[in-house]
Amino acid sequence: MIQLYIPLNFLGVLYREIKQSLADMEKLFSLLDQNKEIADKADAPALQLQGHLSPDVVFQGVNFSYEEKRQILFDVDFKIAAGTTTAVVGHSGSGKSTLSRLLFRFYDIQSGAIQIGGQNILDITQHSLRQAIGIVPQDTVLFNDTIAYNIAYGKPGATQDEVIAVAKAAYIHDFIESLPDGYQTMVGERGLKLSGGEKQRVAIARTLLKDPVMMIFDEATSALDSKSEQMIQAQLKQIAKSRTSLVIAHRLSTIVDAHQILVMDKGRIIERGTHTELMNLAGAYAQMWERQQHSNLATQEE
Ligand code: ATP
Repeated sequence: MIQLYIPLNFLGVLYREIKQSLADMEKLFSLLDQNKEIADKADAPALQLQGHLSPDVVFQGVNFSYEEKRQILFDVDFKIAAGTTTAVVGHSGSGKSTLSRLLFRFYDIQSGAIQIGGQNILDITQHSLRQAIGIVPQDTVLFNDTIAYNIAYGKPGATQDEVIAVAKAAYIHDFIESLPDGYQTMVGERGLKLSGGEKQRVAIARTLLKDPVMMIFDEATSALDSKSEQMIQAQLKQIAKSRTSLVIAHRLSTIVDAHQILVMDKGRIIERGTHTELMNLAGAYAQMWERQQHSNLATQEE
């Protein structure tokens, strides 16, 4: 019994830790293949998509708490129109990442609804939901395997040509070719350590291979060097184009073109609009923008 308990307990700890970050969501689900706390309804259908068109996403009066006594989201209402990008900004702990965890149905909400293409995520299979969403996390965790495997993970059974094509599109092909073992180079904790920018490019290649109709991009808190940053931003814009996207943003400069920006504070949306609309509002967003401009200037002057 004890022997059985230990690994199960370990999985529980692992599960809780991984739930905290978006980084390993997909990995986790492939390991356990199901989340005991979140169950599919009997005979739940798959998410219905119209061809390969991106669906809209609606959060309707969402209230959520991880623990009974502490509510984290309060009556959160927003819509991401099909194929558009919504960015979420706000102080640390305001609930930004929680929105993406809920969209992926890592947790069930206490009240309200989350709908994709008019289908409540409680009514469809978790598998079809997660198949439809690609994630570029803050910090990509690589498997202790070859770089080819790490990219191909986006699409089980992908051919070598497909892997190379997405690596080229993510501007990581030349780097991989320059390694002594090329695509067969072992990476991860026990292999070659990649830089933050390289890891993010692997995640982008993976996402391109998965070719999802929706995207979650969790921007890294610390900026990469500005050349990598610009390249990655340009690629993400390309991927997000025509895909319904949710961007958790830390640097406001990266989201000025978003179709909609939500400003969160203590679990509530306090402002919403485009960058220009929010600047004209001269409220919390405009203040954050001013502050970031000053700190950018200060860094440049150092
Ligand atoms: P950051 O910018 O620092 O990533 P965030 O705005 O994304 O912050 P969330 O990660 O969504 O914030 O967290 C919102 C609140 O929920 C925080 O107060 C956090 O402590 C709490 N929280 C997050 N995960 C859990 C959990 N598993 N159990 C209990 N509380 C949690």
